[in-house]
Amino acid sequence: MDFNTIMKAELHCHLDGSVSVELLEQLAKEQDPSFALSKEEVENLVSVDDQCPDLKTYLEKFDFILKHLQSQDALKRATVDVLSQGAKENVCYMELRFAPTFHLEKGLTIKKAIQAVLQGMKQAKQQLGIESSLIVCLMRHESKETHDKVIQAVKEIRRRHNVAMDLAGDEHAYPTIGFSEQIEKMYALKIPFTLHAGETGNEVNVMDSIVLGAKRIGHGLAMSSYDEIKRFARSQKVMVEMCPTSNLQTKAIASLKEYPIKEFMNDEILVSINTDNRTVSHTNLTREFEKLNEAFPVDVNMAMKITIDTIEAGFMDENTRARLLEKVQLAYQSLEQSA
Ligand SMILES: [Zn+2]
Repeated sequence: MDFNTIMKAELHCHLDGSVSVELLEQLAKEQDPSFALSKEEVENLVSVDDQCPDLKTYLEKFDFILKHLQSQDALKRATVDVLSQGAKENVCYMELRFAPTFHLEKGLTIKKAIQAVLQGMKQAKQQLGIESSLIVCLMRHESKETHDKVIQAVKEIRRRHNVAMDLAGDEHAYPTIGFSEQIEKMYALKIPFTLHAGETGNEVNVMDSIVLGAKRIGHGLAMSSYDEIKRFARSQKVMVEMCPTSNLQTKAIASLKEYPIKEFMNDEILVSINTDNRTVSHTNLTREFEKLNEAFPVDVNMAMKITIDTIEAGFMDENTRARLLEKVQLAYQSLEQSA
């Protein structure tokens, strides 16, 4: 099966970690006329391969990227850039997430940062036809005051735009339960949310996330072999956003042979396949499917089920969801007919 041409959808893609090397090089040159690194040198600064030694090395790759995403213009172009990567590999729907507080070094406000990304999404839809939704991340290491400001900005923007939220960052040092107030606030404001949990150990964070009302979990690997948590996830129809390459690179798993996606599917837990960080992880959604297919065959029925479940779990409005479901079903039907 050609994983590039089959229709796909993605829920877990960090905007900053997915900006192309080409755009980063261009932004760096515009922002500093004396910038003289070659494309290969920029790539080394922002990408890891599968031999990435540890999480620290992985996270350091974001420094160069964030430095160049401090204006509305840069954020908007970055958004169009990442969505066009998806459009090129037949991704019909993409959710992008970012932490606006990482983009305030040169005077942007939280609201302005969010609006810039929304403008990029609108432009990508007009120019490329790709549908997308935005997820705004709270970072675990930030103060509650900062979180309140971000939630307030999202609340205001949601009067006109569909925006969801996430909790990201170091889940060992800052367990999920410590953010119950913030999560309860999202819940009370009817802001849809997903939570990073169970990326490297920490099955308790997965359990707590579901107790706090999360219908989607970023990574969720740690619930592998914990039957009680998996039963709970299934009963709550929780969607696990899985990111194979990223999980390999951060040493969350040792090899894809032990990746629990099949285990979760056999336990009737909803899963989606995602890139996490297209540029930092040096991947795209096609490659994620191809890699999984090498570990255990991904046939057309499995790809279709994952894509439909992904759309069903997406944070788009109901009209868009219905339109996308129809589009995916048609695409896979025509695949069957031509086979
Ligand atoms: Zn992530």
